[in-house]
Amino acid sequence: MDPFTGEAAVEEARNGESRTAWEAGKARNWAGNVSFSAATVHRPESAEELASIVVSHERVKAVGSGYSFSTVADTGGALVRLDRMPKVIEVDGERNRVRVAAGVTFAELAPYLHGRGFALPNLGSLPHITIAGACATGTHGSGNGQPSIAADVCEVELVTSDGAHTRLDRSSPEFGGAVISLGALGIATHLTLDLVPAYDVEQYVWEGLSWEALVSEVEAIIACAYSVSVFTDWNRQHSIWVKRRVRDPLPDLAPTGALPADGPRHPLATMPADNCTPQEGLPGPWWERLPHFRADRLPSTGNELQSEYFVPLDRAGEALSAVHGLRDQIGPVLHLSELRTQAAEETWIGPGCGRESLAIHFTWKLDSAGVGRVLPAVETALEPFSPRPHWGKLFTIAPETLSARFPRWEDFRALRAALDPEGTFSNSLTNRYFG
Ligand SMILES: Cc1cc2nc3c(=O)[nH]c(=O)nc-3n(C[C@H](O)[C@H](O)[C@H](O)COP(=O)(O)OP(=O)(O)OC[C@H]3O[C@@H](n4cnc5c(N)ncnc54)[C@H](O)[C@@H]3O)c2cc1C
Repeated sequence: MDPFTGEAAVEEARNGESRTAWEAGKARNWAGNVSFSAATVHRPESAEELASIVVSHERVKAVGSGYSFSTVADTGGALVRLDRMPKVIEVDGERNRVRVAAGVTFAELAPYLHGRGFALPNLGSLPHITIAGACATGTHGSGNGQPSIAADVCEVELVTSDGAHTRLDRSSPEFGGAVISLGALGIATHLTLDLVPAYDVEQYVWEGLSWEALVSEVEAIIACAYSVSVFTDWNRQHSIWVKRRVRDPLPDLAPTGALPADGPRHPLATMPADNCTPQEGLPGPWWERLPHFRADRLPSTGNELQSEYFVPLDRAGEALSAVHGLRDQIGPVLHLSELRTQAAEETWIGPGCGRESLAIHFTWKLDSAGVGRVLPAVETALEPFSPRPHWGKLFTIAPETLSARFPRWEDFRALRAALDPEGTFSNSLTNRYFG
């Protein structure tokens, strides 16, 4: 289903019905803007059962938690959820790695790792999503030194279209295309990720930043700690969320004109701060500070759509000014924007491929038609910066425009043709962009 015309599902989601009923005809994504067109929904309990589902269907697609806003997880064939597969988590303390079942969520994995003295270097804003789903779309947190979570993956185990179990690791020349893959190569059963020693983080919110200070000092502001987000309405509200690893220097943002918040905050003033992870400098484990939102609460607003564009970090101020010029146009459909950074990485279709990026994120109101109208304007304003979109969020950039922005695009197409020659794992989005 076209994510910009899913009005019926959007209306139901607005009315608070259950978000993701995993039955054919009822399944839809978390936001409610995509009703999956799957003919059947399967929840295999073993790798063998999964392989037999794959070989007996012409079209198959895995879905994780269903938190993507684009049609990236949709299929007209068999939709497969791996939530009933054994929840394998195997820590290899000698090699600092974990092998984890694809359907495990970060909320399940992270405390387990912490309890054994390990950590992931970074996390997205929410722990509700699956490891495989997050890695397949290039999900990321923030930090000048932090690539996407997919960059931590050193091995992927896939069921391919012939039902075979295939393993790709960093020694494979095609590994750069294997992790951020939009589920188009096969169904991942397990991923192995590099770990770092467990660490503690403190979170601080600064607010009252002026637009002038933000646009002129954005690169310094966002580089001030391990992981930094700036929330902005492009108008009057600009706040800085600082996640500092304990023992790192404590940044002083007072020279920017911002002030420390006088209590806990939610990025959206209308939402309860209690839904967020602890702030006010209280030290705590990495997995309870790096995500903005608590695992046992609603993340963000719930009534929303999202888009995100990656532009070169060294042109951050210019790119922000370009979007600022559209503030009157986007204001009516915008909840809030978030600015984050990402280190350059080698993933072939990852938005951070080969360049340090500023990620400009938009949390839109749940208005598919209105968002569909403003996205082309945002994409045109960002055109001088060759924006690359987040695959799990909404965008309208044409395939021929986008392909020119990724140096390894053709390599990904070739890998897909080699691993999935019949297009078993294709869907409308992968066909549109990769043929
Ligand atoms: C409230 C909210 C906050 C968000 N915050 C962030 C953020 O901070 N940073 C960020 O980058 N993104 C963010 N996102 C987007 C989100 O992280 C991505 O869309 C992510 O892909 C969702 O994971 P999922 O498990 O729901 O995957 P799904 O949306 O279910 O699937 C995503 C893709 O993964 C594929 N896939 C899933 N499982 C498998 C498998 N086993 N094998 C092969 N392919 C598979 C699917 O086919 C699909 O292509 C946010 C989304 C929401 C709703």
